[in-house]
Amino acid sequence: MKKHYSESEFQHYIHHQLSIEQREQIEAHLYDCDSCLSLYTACVEKSMQSSIAMDLPSIQKIESIIEVEMNKQEVDIKRRKRFAFVHYVIAASITMALLSSGVFEFMFQQTSQIQHTITTLNQSSHIERWTNDFSNWVDMNNKEDTQREQK
Ligand SMILES: [Zn+2]
Repeated sequence: MKKHYSESEFQHYIHHQLSIEQREQIEAHLYDCDSCLSLYTACVEKSMQSSIAMDLPSIQKIESIIEVEMNKQEVDIKRRKRFAFVHYVIAASITMALLSSGVFEFMFQQTSQIQHTITTLNQSSHIERWTNDFSNWVDMNNKEDTQREQK
């Protein structure tokens, strides 16, 4: 097996600064080496945290790269599982990073603003009343069903 990879090599890999050949070597090594895999995950986390500071699309870029890696046909099931695990770890760390950076809080504020706007719109256009009528109707039907079942 080749020597272990360094953090800077993984940073080059993450930022697409390696040749296809070098990329394939690293990928092949990652599939077989747990210690490099955890170092790689740490590097992805690190670069993600810095990209969160800049912009969110970078994360989506990294995510889509991972998707592509997972969908590669030459990747067999065992390797796929391993990559799926890495993907899960990365997704979890994105969530943690987002939580700590307050992005969710920001999105929540946006969402409640939108909800407030919708509520205001509903009141002015009777949509809310129709929605209530509909949900009452659904409730009634559900009750009838339950009564029917009990008989
Ligand atoms: Zn290694």
